Formats: sequence, C-alpha cells, structure tokens
Amino acid sequence: MEQPAMLGGPKAKTVPFGSGKRFGREEADELLEALQQGTLFYHFGEKVKTFLSDFNKLYGISASVAASSGTAALHTALGAAGITVGDEVITSPITDQGTIVGVLYQNAIPVFADLEPHSFNLSPEAIEKKITSRTKAIIAVHLAGNPCRMDEILSIAKKHRLIVIEDCAQSYLAKYKGKLTGTLGDYGCFSTNDFKHISTGDGGIITVNYGSREDYERVHAFADKNYSRFESNVTREPSHLAPNYRMTELQGAVGIAQLKKLPWICRKRNELGTLLTDRLKGLTGITPMEIEENSECTYWFYMFRIDLEELGCTREEFSEFLREEGIPNQAGYIPKPLYLTPLFQRKEAYPGSTFPFHLSDVSYQEGSCPNAEEILKTAIKLPMSEFFTQQDMEETAAGINKAAHYFTCSRRAEKA
Ligand SMILES: *Cc1c(COP(=O)(O)O)cnc(C)c1O
Repeated sequence: MEQPAMLGGPKAKTVPFGSGKRFGREEADELLEALQQGTLFYHFGEKVKTFLSDFNKLYGISASVAASSGTAALHTALGAAGITVGDEVITSPITDQGTIVGVLYQNAIPVFADLEPHSFNLSPEAIEKKITSRTKAIIAVHLAGNPCRMDEILSIAKKHRLIVIEDCAQSYLAKYKGKLTGTLGDYGCFSTNDFKHISTGDGGIITVNYGSREDYERVHAFADKNYSRFESNVTREPSHLAPNYRMTELQGAVGIAQLKKLPWICRKRNELGTLLTDRLKGLTGITPMEIEENSECTYWFYMFRIDLEELGCTREEFSEFLREEGIPNQAGYIPKPLYLTPLFQRKEAYPGSTFPFHLSDVSYQEGSCPNAEEILKTAIKLPMSEFFTQQDMEETAAGINKAAHYFTCSRRAEKA
C-alpha cells in the first residue's frame, strides 16, 4: 500500500486531467451566418429552426420547441400541459432549483418524493405514496445523466392520469432500456446552459412526444407569450397568460454546431463513467452510482456514496484525502434537499404571501425524504468531462481505493 499523499506519499493522480475546447470555428461560422440573415428572431431566421430539426433527427422525434433556458423549458411544458393554480406536481428533492420554478409560477405546488439510495432518482413507490386528488403531473429528473425507472413511473402516471415531464437537463442521449430519455414522457425538457453537456450560453428545448398538432402549438405558444404564429391560427390575443421564453438565432446557431459534437460527448462520458463504476465495485465502504439494467448513463457528473461507519472517518476527511491525491471532488451535491431551503420552510414563494402553498396541506418537514437527506450527507461528487481520459479514471479509482483502504485499515488498527 502506497503512503497517502496526505502523509508525503506519491499522489494517485500522476498527470493533469485531460482538457479541451468546447467551442471552435464551427460555432463561429454558424454565428456569422446568423448575423448575415439580417434577423435574430427565431421565427424569421433559420438557425433555431435548423437547431430543432437537427435535434429531432438525433432523437428520432417529430416535434420540439426552443426556449430561453432549461427552467423556461420546464415551465413551458407545465404551462402548455395546463398545470394551474392549486395543482400538485411530484418531483425529486435533489435537483436544480429550475425544476420547481415553473411549478410555482403556475401557482402549483411542488411535492417531493423520496429517492432510491444509489441511483439518486425518484423511487416509483415513493411517488405513488404522494399522489392526492390534486396531483396533476410528475417531473422525473434523470440526475447526472442517469435514467429514472420510466416503466414504473409511466405506469403510475397512466393509472392516475398524470402528465409526465422528463427533466433531461443533465441527461442528454441517456438511454432507458434502449430508448432515449426525453422521448418517454409527455414532454422532455433540456437545458443548454453553460454547464451542461452542450452550451448555447443559455437555452432550452421541450420535446412534444405524444401530443397532437394542437399540443405542439400550445407548447410553442407558451414559450412566446401565448402568441400563435402558425398559419392555421395567427393571433396576438392570448386567452391565457404565458411568459416570453424565446430562444434567439444566436443561441440556435451555436446549438447547431454543438449538437454535432453531442454524440461524441455523450459516448465519451458514458465510457468514462462506466469504467469508473466498474473499478469502484466491491470496494469496502464505497457504493458506486447505480444504473438501471440495460440503461446508459451519460454522466454529467459522477457521484458515489461512502459508508462512514465502515470507513471510520468523516466525509470531510475522505474528501480531503482524495484532494491531496490530486483528485478534485466535492463533499455532497446541493447542500440540502430543496424542501429544506427557506422558500419551502417558510412557504413563501412570493414575498409576504403563502400562496399557493396554503391551497394544499403539503408539508416540507425534515425527515420527509430520508434517502435524499442521507444521500446528501454521504455522497462524494466528482467532476466529469468528455476530455478526461481512461488514465484519469484509472487514477481516480486508484485514489478512491487508496482512501478506502487507508481509512478501513487505520480503523482496524485503532480497534486492535
Ligand atoms: C440545469 C438544470 C435545470 C435548469 O436549467 P437552466 O438552463 O439553468 O435554467 C433544471 N433541472 C436540472 C436537473 C438542471 O440540472
């Protein structure tokens, strides 16, 4: 056993992590073309349209709509689906704030269901327990590119007549039993913010999977003030409220070039993450990310859990050990489940008002999603990049192995 780097031994990481440029000439050329059109409005130019038709081809779907962010995409799906005042929407407590923003702007109420301990995704059984007469939709978040158990979720939705929105902000080209995430629910919502698999600075996409032409037009309108721009029905006199979430031609242009790189990005991340999972299997005190059988995760990041009792250390000690080995990592993901943040604890989405929370008897008590709370206390998050190499993963695994051995051995020595 090598000496820990912490005690002066050699670092597990011997070379810098692979890196690279995500934007190049391709994006610049597309941007120039966008400007030369003389318009940056999505409905008059060709860039957003091309971006979406390329996306549809890649996903094998027939309809999608562009939005200004992932948050906007989710709000658009909810709004177009008719989610309204007092409705309840079940989702994951470990996600980006963007998952629930649209729920509250529709004056609907987020309800959090517990997660599975090692996939970090919604437990279908936990979802079912949260269903009430107010429940209208489920937002299934495929965390870190890991597909949720969609068969079970879709069958619960069918049984209770709920809309299913997939939050795919972190799950480009991830496959659930051979099918792409984002094509399984009623709608799939993607983000192209600067931290996702592909970036247009900010941006979003909504897939419209089973709906009619009217459904597609409703989604399209909701991202554009509920204006209808289709020949069948051009109107600027909306019957209901909707925001302006339009994508510009500049984002569409960058998106066209970025989409061409997406299959490679996702393939690389899947290979690297799968390799790491393989190397972490069976290590004492370590549980790697759990991926559903016959499914493919495209690892937006990598998260694993440590058993503090088995290792006999604190998470901070483990994290620090890894950092000393040259392996950047974060103790945990978001600091708390969403329901423990002040907005939910005080039930105050709008300053000075408890609307819409007081329409429902939902509660946001500590302990209400025990697995989610435990995940956030015992997870270690590693960055992932398509530019990382196999060697990066082997050395990361070696560092984790070294930490696990070090802590379990020193604990055994203490006990002896
Ligand atoms: C990034 C993200 C969002 C929000 O996307 P934005 O483009 O930042 O608005 C929503 N859900 C999840 C799971 C995300 O990771």
